[in-house]
Amino acid sequence: MGDRQGDAGDCIFCDIATRRAPSYIVYEDASTVAFLDLFPFTRGHLLVIPKRHGARLADIPFEDRMAMVRALDEVCRRVERLTSDYNVALNVGARAGQVVFHVHFHVIPRYGEANPFLVRGRVRLSDDDARELVRELARS
Ligand code: 5GP
Ligand code: ZN
Repeated sequence: MGDRQGDAGDCIFCDIATRRAPSYIVYEDASTVAFLDLFPFTRGHLLVIPKRHGARLADIPFEDRMAMVRALDEVCRRVERLTSDYNVALNVGARAGQVVFHVHFHVIPRYGEANPFLVRGRVRLSDDDARELVRELARS
């Protein structure tokens, strides 16, 4: 996870969007990609990103921001296959908890955690779980 802001040449999410880096993609359209978070807060934790690099929301064009909302709409509909409850989060800036400086919405399914905003130990996504989730979430 690089911390260089605004640098598309060294950005893991750019690499994921262009398939230079592996990920479990569940949704894609002309300007966005959604894929499973590698260290999920909960089962089915997804990230929705614009294909175009930008560190902050204000760094990408209005059309890309709108495309992200359309993609979110679709992905949230699919997440309801897992559970009816979920959070959508956007961290902008290090002080807001942004670690990867390529704009992304988190979609975090909720299954009854006592305090959804408390970050507990995160376990790396297993390939078996990922494949099962892709089966559930990649179909439209
Ligand atoms: P942030 O804290 O920047 O809002 O969230 C970054 C998210 O990206 C984290 O939840 C982290 O687990 C996830 N992440 C970081 N590197 C990778 C990666 O290489 N692949 C995937 N799929 N997720 C990643
Ligand atoms: Zn990027």
